[in-house]
Amino acid sequence: MSSQVKKNLGVLTSGGDAPGMNAAVRAVIRTALEKNVNVFAIYEGYQGMVDGGDRIVACDWDSVGGILQRGGTKIGTARCQAFQTRDGRRKAALNLLKHEINSLVVIGGDGSLTGANVFCQEWPELLKELLDAGDISNEIASSCAQLKAVGLPASIDNDLYGSDMSIGTDTALHRITEAVDAISTTAASHQRTFVVEVMGRNCGYLALMSALASSADWVFIPEMPPPYDNWEEKMCSVLKAGRDSGRRDTIVIVAEGAIDRHGNPVQSNYVKQILEERLNEDVRVTILGHVQRGGSPSAYDRTLATLLGHSAVEYLTSENTENETMLMGMRGNNSKPAPLMECVNISHSVADSIKNGDYEKAMQLRGNVFIDNYNTLHTLMKVRSPKASHDTQASNQSLRIAIMNCDAAAPGMNTAARAAVRHGIDCGHTFLGIEHGFRGFIEGKIRELDWLSVRGWATIGGSELGTSRKIPKGGEFYAIARHIEKFEIDAILIIGGWSGYQTAYNFFQQRENYPAFNIPILCIPASIDNNLPGSEYSIGCDTALNNIIEAMDKIKQSAVATNRCIVVEVMGYYCGYLAMMSGIATGAERVYIHEEGVTLKNLQKDISYLMDSFRHGKRLGLIICNEKAHPVYNTNFIRDLLTEEGKKLFTVRRSILGHLQQGGDPTPMDRINATRLAIQGIKYLIENYKKDKPFAQFMGLKGGQVNFWNLSKFPDLTDKEFNRASDIWWWNIRNIASILA
Ligand code: ATP
Repeated sequence: MSSQVKKNLGVLTSGGDAPGMNAAVRAVIRTALEKNVNVFAIYEGYQGMVDGGDRIVACDWDSVGGILQRGGTKIGTARCQAFQTRDGRRKAALNLLKHEINSLVVIGGDGSLTGANVFCQEWPELLKELLDAGDISNEIASSCAQLKAVGLPASIDNDLYGSDMSIGTDTALHRITEAVDAISTTAASHQRTFVVEVMGRNCGYLALMSALASSADWVFIPEMPPPYDNWEEKMCSVLKAGRDSGRRDTIVIVAEGAIDRHGNPVQSNYVKQILEERLNEDVRVTILGHVQRGGSPSAYDRTLATLLGHSAVEYLTSENTENETMLMGMRGNNSKPAPLMECVNISHSVADSIKNGDYEKAMQLRGNVFIDNYNTLHTLMKVRSPKASHDTQASNQSLRIAIMNCDAAAPGMNTAARAAVRHGIDCGHTFLGIEHGFRGFIEGKIRELDWLSVRGWATIGGSELGTSRKIPKGGEFYAIARHIEKFEIDAILIIGGWSGYQTAYNFFQQRENYPAFNIPILCIPASIDNNLPGSEYSIGCDTALNNIIEAMDKIKQSAVATNRCIVVEVMGYYCGYLAMMSGIATGAERVYIHEEGVTLKNLQKDISYLMDSFRHGKRLGLIICNEKAHPVYNTNFIRDLLTEEGKKLFTVRRSILGHLQQGGDPTPMDRINATRLAIQGIKYLIENYKKDKPFAQFMGLKGGQVNFWNLSKFPDLTDKEFNRASDIWWWNIRNIASILA
């Protein structure tokens, strides 16, 4: 560990561009300025560093205004041959020293980050050479004796070890799923097969996750080629079975670097030729190419980039920096530094394992979540339920599992239901769909769900089962108990929000009065509000967040020309998650949430700050209010206050986003989380089923892991007055939002 005299900081983007790079640059520059560190943008990556001159530009707060939502990178990126040479790096060092820059944040892929490490290691020698040559003074040489750098992973491929996600990957998945969803409709119309090629030379992340998110029929990834030689035959038989069962569209996803088990490339055109020759299919190939890199970053990428950029500067300006170059990655929902070269080397060893045919090792290096998702996809790709299953044979019992949605519809509920039903049937169990939540349970609206009845559910929003907020009471318990007996229900799976959890808890409490309730109950979190205990993410909240930021981007665009302040109200009930996260992802000036409260004193302060900003040239103000932020100081009150106080400087408009937040097809992240939770939930249910000892649990995602909690803990883990989890994991993030705005 060492501390050094902190001087000036440079930030650059390098290698291939990735959506979210702008958000990272903005966070780096504004966090540095907030800490009184001079900060310079280095244009065109390492090329700008080698060229110097007007490519290294001092930044102020406004230099990065209005870029958060833009794709690509405003400061440019490049691949620079000169920086690969020592002479080039010497020029780069001199150019940095001209501005006394001795800290760097490099945003890019493994190549760019390796370059940063080489540069830091060489720095003392380069400095000496420059000093000996008289190019720099003794003073500069001693004040900038060390160069410290932090790398931020930015690559749509998600091929960097050390961060669960790289900046740009989630957006690329958005582009791919949008394209595959669109292709699926035309494929279904003509009963065609589409072979879709996605990026990823040594990394199958995009192919695997997009196949999972779009319920593709077959996928090729470099890490795990088909484990047999006659894969063509096997693929054709699975796809034919799909057609025979009535499937109208067939989608095969091929990673750019897909190979067979001998390392020979599996090319899209070859797959097309096989399917045409052997199945007589009408096959089209779509190579998605650079579309995957483009467009506005997703909510997740904006937030990820913002948090990593902020943490990188926090790290570089802290007293406890390591001597080596670090990678700032997101691990288990926390930004953490890790030795950069260790991460790069492990990333490279995946490629080496693939080259050496050691696919098991390649998969292991990708981690458990990747392996889980691979196995999940293979379960779901089966066309029909197998006649007998290993799990049923092992446990020798076939369960009748009731599945239902509760509370408001959340995008991804259908995805979860489909995954649960298919995995459960695959294990030999029977599924009963309860319509319209507990209202349908009381009325006995219960039907069997077979393998094909959930076809097409993976990608559509809303709730095909129907949902309701009904919380049963009194005699309704009796009706439900009777239906449990009548339909011989062995276990209940609830995919839903607060009212579902509350009812499950009530069932658990009423077990002595209603013996029929003595069956396993499992709740899977699905709520756009993201207010449930035991989970950092509920199914649906990512889609809602993306709906919000898309709407806000448009609102901002409409307002910027007219000196306007917009007050936007978002959902969330008493939970400020959507408000806070959309505030970070859109760069709102102020976010009002119920957890924090709204006071007149704060409103006065915020208004005078806003007026000051408009006086100094600001053209747009964005204020976000949670729908229940305050009973009196609510959205209308804030609009009226701003209108009156700011009338000489700006106009004010109010926008209540309403139900558009709940609608739409689920985002890739919601589809992936829904599938993962549902499969893990069903596994848990089957493995822990005991007739005489029924569990009652809810589950969730924490730090990237799936966790289970006893329903008896529900009251302890919640703030019942306001229907929200008492542990607010995103609480600290709100400081970052206010710093950067
Ligand atoms: P992507 O994942 O999009 O390919 P990347 O950052 O890996 O992004 P590269 O082309 O490998 O892209 O590297 C970008 C730039 O980083 C190179 O053009 C070069 O200037 C610099 N760089 C890469 N490797 C090194 C190295 N070993 N030494 C010095 N500089 C390097």
